[in-house]
Amino acid sequence: MIIHTHGHTRTYEMEALLKLFRPAEKFAFSDAAECPEGEHISAVLISAADGTQTLSCSARIGDMVRSSGKTLDSSVQGFLLDREISGLLYPMLCDLTGMRPMWGMLTGIRPVNLLRKFAARTGSVEAAAEEFRTVWHVSEEKTQLAEDILSVQQPILDAAPKNSVGIYLSVPFCPTRCRYCSFVSNSVARMRHLIPEYYRRIYDEMELVSGIMDEFGLKADTVYIGGGTPTTIDLFQPMDWLDRFFICVNPIREFTVEAGRPDTITRENLTPMRQFGVTRISVNPQSFQDDVLRAAGRPHTAQDVVDKYLLAREIGFDNINMDFIAGLPCDTVRGFCESIDRAVELAPESITVHCLALKKAADFYQSLPMPDADAVSEMVAYAQKTLTAAGYRPYYLYRQKNMAANLENVGYAKPGFESPYNVMMMDDSQTILGIGAGASTKILGGRRGIERLTECKYPNDYLARFDELMVQKAAQMREYLGCIVK
Ligand code: SF4
Repeated sequence: MIIHTHGHTRTYEMEALLKLFRPAEKFAFSDAAECPEGEHISAVLISAADGTQTLSCSARIGDMVRSSGKTLDSSVQGFLLDREISGLLYPMLCDLTGMRPMWGMLTGIRPVNLLRKFAARTGSVEAAAEEFRTVWHVSEEKTQLAEDILSVQQPILDAAPKNSVGIYLSVPFCPTRCRYCSFVSNSVARMRHLIPEYYRRIYDEMELVSGIMDEFGLKADTVYIGGGTPTTIDLFQPMDWLDRFFICVNPIREFTVEAGRPDTITRENLTPMRQFGVTRISVNPQSFQDDVLRAAGRPHTAQDVVDKYLLAREIGFDNINMDFIAGLPCDTVRGFCESIDRAVELAPESITVHCLALKKAADFYQSLPMPDADAVSEMVAYAQKTLTAAGYRPYYLYRQKNMAANLENVGYAKPGFESPYNVMMMDDSQTILGIGAGASTKILGGRRGIERLTECKYPNDYLARFDELMVQKAAQMREYLGCIVK
């Protein structure tokens, strides 16, 4: 299928819209004066001497063609032009495909954040929700979900101290790679030799970051060790350093370790976490079906998850999260529902339900039975119904590109156990200072709203270019923080 643009440069946004209907397809592009003959979507913008613009859109699927157009004034540019193009193309695509995406023509990854912005602009959540439904074609169900999350998040956002930041330490190693993995994670068997130097460098980076925080009067609000699977390596020293640089100077709201895979969780690595005041950990089943775990390349059983979860409880953890994935190969609606029921019986404080990214699925699982989009929708709907009935509330949500059934990832928590880091991070509501390979740093405020620092994804590049990277990081942090913190 061809994406045709002429007279403007909103190609990326048109591609994002088309992916709602053709999530795993690769597209061709054209900016020729003539509209292509074959399957396409097209948006042509022509400016007149009086400043008005004429927008003409068309879509062709098979032999069926739809077209429409409108006149715009000259102020319609950027995001407003995207909205006009989507507003014309979206109904055509619904008509030609028979599909009705649950999130309508919203393509961004943070719909709750968008709802909050609309509420600020229109003066009420009700008006913002109405705009979701009527202008953006978001379903009643997803609009309600976004509204529910917005109300749960508000006290968490309001409780963030002034000039506070989240600290994220990246441990990009795993014992082995799961087949569906879409993260920068490296099998520790191949990378073990890098770990001693990785420790030295994250120490240096923590020292640098905490020094700059002092210069600008910033305090840590949350600390999160993520990955990869952090418990692949010994975390004693990194936790000690985090404590020294960020935690002991100032009380924080949350200290999370994404323990993740049960094959890395031991009494020996959980015990020091208690000592360093870790408040929240994850023990991630992804599924409680052994055949699904095998197909996913996870070398543990459902019983291993239960054993490690009970071990964490015995050691004293009272805030445990479990992650699940809807849409894994070999899974069924029944199997997924049983997994959710099992999790509810175990009663962790929070449960996060992800949907599988289709691109990875296509790459890795061509020969395995995959749940179709309707099945994934059913799984997600069952999770929402069952978890809310069990007293969990949805509290953060994000979408990814190429997600199964074009759905979303939702974090559910029992009241009072919502993770402030997840809320602030996913909502772009707080500066996050990342440390280590693959950690993103984003600084809120400034000229562009959010400044993202250059990052280095892979541990060997991070180590090889460390000095150069830190000079660059220090300069960027000082520049962006200097614009924001007065
Ligand atoms: S545990 Fe997570 S980060 Fe590690 S390989 Fe599996 S999916 Fe990737």
